[in-house]
Amino acid sequence: MVELKTDASIDAMYETGQVVAQALTAVRKAADVGVSLLELDEAAREVLDAAGATSPFLGYRPTFAPTPFPAVICASVNDAIVHGIPTGYRLRDGDLVSIDCGAQRGGWAGDSAISFVVGRARPADVHLIETAERALAAGIEAAVVGNRMGDIAHAIGTVCRGAGYGIMEDYGGHGIGRRMHEDPPVPNEGRPGRGMPLRHGMVLAIEPMLIAGGGDAYRTDPDGWTLRTTDGSRAAHTEHTVAITEAGPRVLTARD
Ligand code: MG
Ligand code: MG
Repeated sequence: MVELKTDASIDAMYETGQVVAQALTAVRKAADVGVSLLELDEAAREVLDAAGATSPFLGYRPTFAPTPFPAVICASVNDAIVHGIPTGYRLRDGDLVSIDCGAQRGGWAGDSAISFVVGRARPADVHLIETAERALAAGIEAAVVGNRMGDIAHAIGTVCRGAGYGIMEDYGGHGIGRRMHEDPPVPNEGRPGRGMPLRHGMVLAIEPMLIAGGGDAYRTDPDGWTLRTTDGSRAAHTEHTVAITEAGPRVLTARD
């Protein structure tokens, strides 16, 4: 069931979304060659703690997971697409890092992700990340009253496929509200004009996950969490929590 949020609820979700935005900004600032993924997790924890927020990631255990998630961010490096567990791994020159972060505060959840390179970036990685950002922007632009879910999916998929990239199969965005994962699913590829009509008060986490090699397949690490490309190519992930309103899409996790 899709829960439509009131304007007051959307305002409250914006406050939570801004905590996520600040956490990602802090992680981005802390990330550098030689910095460990655990240190990035710590940077995000400090922001959540200072804001009086908790993490919907920490302790999260969906049915597929062998263990509760141990961190407040997912840190996925190079061929890791999503759900990477922060470890003592120290970032190397040219690593492509995807950071996903969530927050829970005042009864509302927020969810957002960024990809970036530490040190000297390969042109191919810059293009992949820019395409992921364009795909997210296209999805957000299509998140308007009068459109349907398929319009968001089609907008994202068109940007990704147009650049020759793969789209991670089986995974996509989701509704978000009191809980991080709510109905409806938000696919990253689809047919325009199809699916659920978009209405004022729907809040969606829109999140393209791109695979540089062009295939859509992924595999799971022995840790049961980290999802990687099967061809060893790199991946990028971008995400915003977005409210659909009569005045247009409102990005609740927008960063300065
Ligand atoms: Mg996320
Ligand atoms: Mg999400």
